[in-house]
Amino acid sequence: MKILAVSDQIDDRLYHAGVRERYPDVDLLVGCGDLPYEYLEFLVTALNTPLVYVPGNHDPQYKENDPLSQAEGGVCLDQSVTHLKGLLMAGIGGSIRYRPDGINQYTQSEMYYRLRKLVLPLLWHRLLGHRRLDLLIAHSPPLGIHDDDDLAHTGFQALRDFIKTFKPRYFLHGHTMYYKGNLEPPTTRVGETMVINVYPYRVIEME
Ligand SMILES: [Zn+2]
Repeated sequence: MKILAVSDQIDDRLYHAGVRERYPDVDLLVGCGDLPYEYLEFLVTALNTPLVYVPGNHDPQYKENDPLSQAEGGVCLDQSVTHLKGLLMAGIGGSIRYRPDGINQYTQSEMYYRLRKLVLPLLWHRLLGHRRLDLLIAHSPPLGIHDDDDLAHTGFQALRDFIKTFKPRYFLHGHTMYYKGNLEPPTTRVGETMVINVYPYRVIEME
């Protein structure tokens, strides 16, 4: 299972007609937020693969009946759980609130409240004896992991607690890049979870 995950910045290495030849065997495209939807729509068409994504703090607010608020050909996974390509996956969009009127921005306690929508379906999957969550798709990193010291790039404690409870195999996020001076987006193992910053893109091979 090969995943191409993108976030935050259009990358010319992907945004061209030869992308299919370069990545002929991508099974799933994942958008971690803060990208123009035309870019996601281009990749869906060029790679001919399913797209799941969550909105970031620079994306429009998702509205069910408003095509302009969605990436065509993709599934907005914000606050939902789905089975796709044999993977159990969940999504949670948005960043920490740093502006009173900011879109897709939430306080620490609002993020706990938003995550409650994932809890019941995931507990249900567990009760049915299914394996654990394969993939959590987020925009923001967890607090203290790949986040930064300024308010706009602070991560969520609720996501840390979520990792501890549901132990997703992979946690993909964007929103932060030059994490405390690093030039490469980092990967960190937290318990049984690989936390991967995908900014601006990453190819991930899942067993
Ligand atoms: Zn962001």
